[in-house]
Amino acid sequence: MNINKNQLLEKYGKSLLVNENLSKYSWFKLGGPAELFFRPKDREQLINFLKEVRIENNYINVLGAGSNTLIRDSGVNGLVIKLGSSFSDIKLLEKDTIEVGASTLDRKISDFASNNNISGLEFLSCIPGSIGGGIIMNSGCYGSDISNILESIRVIDLNGNEKTIKNSEINFFYRGSDIPKNYIIVSAVLKGKISNKEIVQKKQQELIQKKKDSQPSKVKTGGSTFKNNKEKKAWKLIKESGCDKYSVGDAKISEKHSNFFINSGQAKASDIEKLINKVKKDVKDKTGEKLELEIKIIGNAE
Ligand SMILES: Cc1cc2nc3c(=O)[nH]c(=O)nc-3n(C[C@H](O)[C@H](O)[C@H](O)COP(=O)(O)OP(=O)(O)OC[C@H]3O[C@@H](n4cnc5c(N)ncnc54)[C@H](O)[C@@H]3O)c2cc1C
Repeated sequence: MNINKNQLLEKYGKSLLVNENLSKYSWFKLGGPAELFFRPKDREQLINFLKEVRIENNYINVLGAGSNTLIRDSGVNGLVIKLGSSFSDIKLLEKDTIEVGASTLDRKISDFASNNNISGLEFLSCIPGSIGGGIIMNSGCYGSDISNILESIRVIDLNGNEKTIKNSEINFFYRGSDIPKNYIIVSAVLKGKISNKEIVQKKQQELIQKKKDSQPSKVKTGGSTFKNNKEKKAWKLIKESGCDKYSVGDAKISEKHSNFFINSGQAKASDIEKLINKVKKDVKDKTGEKLELEIKIIGNAE
């Protein structure tokens, strides 16, 4: 990083923090400090900062709502950027088209769509992340995902240059996309179908109920730990291998959904990671199937 920390701290004031503890920014409630933690107050400040620090690819991590991310105990070298509330505007562009800031929570977008008689975004009410994270992950459930509703994204690269990328230019796949790591998504345009509020709300409620019935709520987790295999769901492979009863310290596997790994109290991130590796190895040994991680693990390995 091409930086003088003290100069930057003076210039960016409250937006820039040194050794900020990251556990509060992750759903697991785990993780050590970020060497530098930047929460830009607006787009202009983000651009100026990036132009000034000229950061390299491997020194930056962007955090959304942290609902898909495990942060290691020893923290993160370099810069962690988290977009705050000034990146959470929602605007109706056309009757079926919405523009949203990247830190807007999916749930809020779903509600905005239903209040404006737009269907197709109901599934977002079941995903606890931000739309920025959702786009990177191509998040989805119950037969829909982000790639179905995304028109375009607005990104800023690490040199502070801004551009628009259309959906057709992005390769989306199951729980992922090829959006390069040096792009910070700042906003997105989403498109649904003109419908009727009552119908949309009914569907939202059905999906929310379905989720409640099948997955744990109010737990410290990153959601599905592994991606589903083509033939078999990850939770089934874990259960059938007898791994669903495993634990490491306070890192446990949900009794309700064996692909949800949980910090049940005082777990360390390393406990969760050990549990992940143990399950992965034993599922492979017992079934021959290779589980691929869905959650992202960031930070310095111990
Ligand atoms: C209880 C629970 C239920 C869940 N259910 C589902 C589900 O049904 N379906 C599903 O798909 N997922 C589910 N998840 C996982 C998670 O909610 C989604 O992947 C979500 O979209 C992640 O969004 P986030 O903002 O929390 O991303 P984060 O975890 O903060 O980040 C995820 C990735 O996106 C990147 N990123 C985040 N914001 C930006 C940005 N602005 N610009 C560039 N990169 C960015 C990060 O660097 C990281 O690589 C669940 C998680 C939990 C805890």
